[in-house]
Amino acid sequence: MSKFFSKKYDALTPYTPGEQPRDMQYIKLNTNESPFPPPEAVVEAVKREAGACNLYSDPTCRALVEEVAKVYKVRPTQVLPTNGSDEILNFAFMAFCDRDTPATFADITYGFYEVFARLHGIPYRTIPLKEDFSIDYREYMGIHSTVFIANPNAPTGLALSRAQIEEILVSNPDNIVVVDEAYVDFGGESCVSLIDKYENLLVTQTFSKSRSLAGARLGLGFANEKLINDLNTLKYSTNPYNVNRMTMTAGVVALQNQSYFDEKCEEICKTREYTKEKLTKLGFFVLDSKTNFLFIRSDKIDGERLYNQLKSRGILVRHFNGERIREFNRVTVGTKAQMDAFLLAVTEILKENQA
Ligand code: PMP
Repeated sequence: MSKFFSKKYDALTPYTPGEQPRDMQYIKLNTNESPFPPPEAVVEAVKREAGACNLYSDPTCRALVEEVAKVYKVRPTQVLPTNGSDEILNFAFMAFCDRDTPATFADITYGFYEVFARLHGIPYRTIPLKEDFSIDYREYMGIHSTVFIANPNAPTGLALSRAQIEEILVSNPDNIVVVDEAYVDFGGESCVSLIDKYENLLVTQTFSKSRSLAGARLGLGFANEKLINDLNTLKYSTNPYNVNRMTMTAGVVALQNQSYFDEKCEEICKTREYTKEKLTKLGFFVLDSKTNFLFIRSDKIDGERLYNQLKSRGILVRHFNGERIREFNRVTVGTKAQMDAFLLAVTEILKENQA
């Protein structure tokens, strides 16, 4: 740390993104990206748009917002596109939390919530997941705090129902409930349709997972006009051109090619169930994922050892060192061929470790 770095960040531990090593070609099952490239129409449109990069992007993201409104059946004024959904989450911490309005989230959830809270000096409370790693939605009722819920949750993959989220919304009428739906397209129930019903609801989604655009960085916020205005105040106070031209175009054309992504999501869900079944046969405990990843544990090998041995065979998964989850690994669902390679490696590793 330099002597110039502000003291207010003394205690800040930044978010650790999943590793992106370049030392060899890995089968990358560690950051929940889609294994499928975006459709050709997206790639071509982005190439064309690159020629106009001498001009700033549209700060209102009009073309994108209108396309989103059509696909999601909301009004354009109820949508805010951002530079990945991390950015809208950051805006939400800035906009809807402060010293008197703390944040609440699960003890095991997306690690960035804690980082944002600390970055902005926001007091926060974590609520432990139940023994089975599910969220007890009743513990979030009437808590006088801004709620952040990843639904489905990460890294567990477990989801709450829309009805359970509604109970949280109804019981916290004076606080914002942020529902982070980064993985909702793989089997969760979205709450976007509830934004007219609950003035305290903000839903966030991303193009990084089900729409194959992690590297383009595109997220969306859905809420009533007043909340979107609040969030826009922060966007225009930080980075008005937060979505660049190529990304905006990629988003529009992706939305026009929804059937491509629906097909890919279906394929990923099928491969997820296939992988889950095989892992269960190998003796793994596998949580019931509604996402594009599996959270897995085996009594036969400890979590970190499995992670390291997979890595040495060119397969990257994600291991977290948290107290209750250190025996687990989070495995992104890739193509069927990638998962077969993963399963073969796991089988061999288990055999070697038994001998
Ligand atoms: N929410 C959750 C639960 C996530 O796992 C991620 C991905 N790391 C994000 C939000 C942010 O994704 P992005 O910024 O790529 O949209």
